[in-house]
Amino acid sequence: MKFIYNFGEGNADGAANQKGLLGGKGANLAEMTRLGIPVPPGFTITTEVCTYYMKHNTYPKDFDTQIATSLNKIEKIMNQRFGSVENPLLVSVRSGARQSMPGMMETVLNVGLTKDTIPGLIAQSGDKRFVYDAYRRLIMMYSDVVMEKAQGLTSKNGIDIREELEGVLTEYKKSKGIDDDTKLTAEDLKFLSSKFKEHIESALGKAFPDNAKDQLWGAIAAVFKSWNGKRAKTYRHIENIPDEWGTAVNVQTMVFGNMGESSATGVAFTRNPATGENHFYGEWLANAQGEDVVAGIRTPNPLNVNSTTSESIHLPSLEQENPKIYDVLDKVKNQLEVHYHDMQDLEFTIQKDRLWMLQTRTGKRNGAAAIRIAMDMLDEGLISEDEALMRISTDHLDEIMHETVHPEAEKNADVLATGLPAGPGGAFGHIVFTAEDAEKWHALGKNIILIRNETSPEDVHGMHVSSGILTAKGGMTSHAALVARGWGKCCIVGCSDLQINLKNKSVSIHNITLKEGDIITLNGSSGNVYANELSLEKPDLKNNQYFNKLMDISDRRRTLKIRANTDREEDASQARQFGAEGIGLCRTEHMFFEPERISAMREMILSTDKESRRNAVMKLLPFQRDDFYGILKAMAPFPVTIRLLDPPLHEFLPHTDSQINSLSKDMNVPTSEITSRIAALHESNPMLGHRGCRLGVMYPEITEMQSQAIFEATTKLKKEGLNPFPEVMIPLVGSAPELSNQRKHIINIAKKVQQSESIQFDYSVGTMIELPRACITANEIAEVAEFFSFGTNDLTQTTYGFSRDDVSTFLPYYIDKNIIKGDPFQSIDQNGVGELVKIGVQKGRSTNANLKIGICGEHGGDPKSISFFHKTGLNYVSCSPFRVPIARLSAAQAAILHNL
Ligand code: PEP
Ligand code: MG
Repeated sequence: MKFIYNFGEGNADGAANQKGLLGGKGANLAEMTRLGIPVPPGFTITTEVCTYYMKHNTYPKDFDTQIATSLNKIEKIMNQRFGSVENPLLVSVRSGARQSMPGMMETVLNVGLTKDTIPGLIAQSGDKRFVYDAYRRLIMMYSDVVMEKAQGLTSKNGIDIREELEGVLTEYKKSKGIDDDTKLTAEDLKFLSSKFKEHIESALGKAFPDNAKDQLWGAIAAVFKSWNGKRAKTYRHIENIPDEWGTAVNVQTMVFGNMGESSATGVAFTRNPATGENHFYGEWLANAQGEDVVAGIRTPNPLNVNSTTSESIHLPSLEQENPKIYDVLDKVKNQLEVHYHDMQDLEFTIQKDRLWMLQTRTGKRNGAAAIRIAMDMLDEGLISEDEALMRISTDHLDEIMHETVHPEAEKNADVLATGLPAGPGGAFGHIVFTAEDAEKWHALGKNIILIRNETSPEDVHGMHVSSGILTAKGGMTSHAALVARGWGKCCIVGCSDLQINLKNKSVSIHNITLKEGDIITLNGSSGNVYANELSLEKPDLKNNQYFNKLMDISDRRRTLKIRANTDREEDASQARQFGAEGIGLCRTEHMFFEPERISAMREMILSTDKESRRNAVMKLLPFQRDDFYGILKAMAPFPVTIRLLDPPLHEFLPHTDSQINSLSKDMNVPTSEITSRIAALHESNPMLGHRGCRLGVMYPEITEMQSQAIFEATTKLKKEGLNPFPEVMIPLVGSAPELSNQRKHIINIAKKVQQSESIQFDYSVGTMIELPRACITANEIAEVAEFFSFGTNDLTQTTYGFSRDDVSTFLPYYIDKNIIKGDPFQSIDQNGVGELVKIGVQKGRSTNANLKIGICGEHGGDPKSISFFHKTGLNYVSCSPFRVPIARLSAAQAAILHNL
């Protein structure tokens, strides 16, 4: 079996399409090598070896022979030997999962450097200081990553080995009066290396392996084991990455960006990842190793003029400093974009004026950038319309609909500090200083801003629950910036004025001190920080040309119509602006709680004879007519589905003594009578009780009043020259006779209104399908319905037998124990509830080919469910107004995926 894939000198065993086997990094290193791009030679150990190792705690047979052969191949290309005294080869050992997990797993650099190979490397590089610096870095990294974390050795001194060695270094610098690492001489570093080794042996009870092969095997095992490290697991959980994927390991010739001033290292994006502009964008550091750029210890230089920030504006760019190399890098960038047809995130190293590419991968970008890049690449002819649509996730779209700091509020506020705008949008919240505190405050339901000197992968759980992130250090490609951008979070980095005091849980900025819990606001688009809460505002999507273009393409591609659920005129207008093509659910019950209406409602419910009930209910007619007038007007000529009264009547009853007293006066009946009527209306299972169409069947005057209000509003609008289209919808129907019963009343009223107003109008009558029986007898129901609208909230409740209001009592436990995959009230349960929907559609259309079918449960705004509804052949989905653009994109993506 093939466990290892080699790459180097223009040849590679693997290719970009083998991410599952070689991980993203390995697959792309192979691809770049094939493209003739300069990549240091190396090999990738497959993810299959990782899963084998996890299961058996040992390697598969023949694995060691394959390692030896592959190492030999690199040695031939490089004309060096691993472990050789004269001409040693050094390698890096890095993780690389199928999906990028930045910083979550381990890396060991400079593997193969031992006391024996040191002279050879000094002869190669001519730089003794560089070699001892690399050696002490290896010792520190190896003792931490391999010996302590992977092999589980613990220091007898009770502190982390890395911290202990840092202490040795600090002590030494103090004794020599040195304040900066760069001032350490070769002799200092040589001395420190042997001190480190002594400390490791005494603290961990095991010596640092001064042998190239041992180092290599130790590093490979450590990378595999880091797949199951705490932070990798947390990240996988958040990102939904399966545990069984495993990581690949890349063993690759070391190239050094820290071999003097003609060497450098950098990271870049082929386009700006924050705005999407088509500008090469990146950062670099002369005489440094890759980790130095990401760690945010030094402020990196800009790659070119388009990459400058307020922090780096005075620093020379690579374009100015080394135009020749910049030119080569720029060509590689163009080649990679044309090849991958997507924005790439690159890592490069320049060793003595020679460029090496260490990585390319699809660049993470925020929502605004994702949309712009896809639309630009479509214009540039790099991708097709379908590819452009599939490039944008619904989360990206959600993100650009997020809030920003209100410009007026910001104009009048004093800027407390400024950093780099790493993740756009605005956020305010209570400040906390550790990831753990972020979780605690979040559990209390608070908005949080997490403030750190710099973040590390250990902080991801706290970053995830924060509304915004603010760091004192780091550049645009620092850990905080990358992670926040990936999640579309507001983030400011490199805000160097912050003086964080972790002990007191406070931060000082100039002469202002803020404590944990104080509120600040971040503008992640400008980098400004404010010492109070500023109001946020929704984005201006109307004038966003990229958003509009995306929506246009989505609309051309989708076949599902998109409607909105709303019962307010303003929301209906908002929904229409977002592209809604009608209202799929106008719930009428919310309309009855205003003071003038609730007393008439109560009177109606508590009346004991038909006459007084009718008198009471007719008091509601003018209110309802106005409600419907506004909504139908906002949507005309699109259809508006108005659902007649649905909830159990007792929801409207008076609860307090004063409410009962006031009702008794209004109705002129004793309070005792009201109390006994309330008691009579009590139900043990109101969700399965006197609700839905059962109300209209028992009290047809409710149906009649609501229908009359709908049709009078329609008539008024018709007279004003508009063309409204009401669809009257009956809730909670379980059998055809229930619907026929209600339909009769509605048609009757429509005729009466048309006659008395002498005007004709269009309307239709249909039903919600939200009970299993309705799905199963849909063929009968469809004979008396013009439309169906699946009420998947109630259908989920009645199919699972889960109370939709109390499900949180056990659902998290079920999800945790893998008894259920996710919340079925959020994403449709395709095997159960979905199957009933399919039956309902098929049976319904079997007797009524023209039946219009939609869905108006919460699932109408969920991308996965939308895909299912598309496949099932529905005509439309209806969701909340702010989800409409997301539903438009999801419907287009569903059409592409299901090839229709
Ligand atoms: C439903 O049950 O899915 C529905 C849309 O109605 P409601 O949520 O009002 O019960
Ligand atoms: Mg319902």
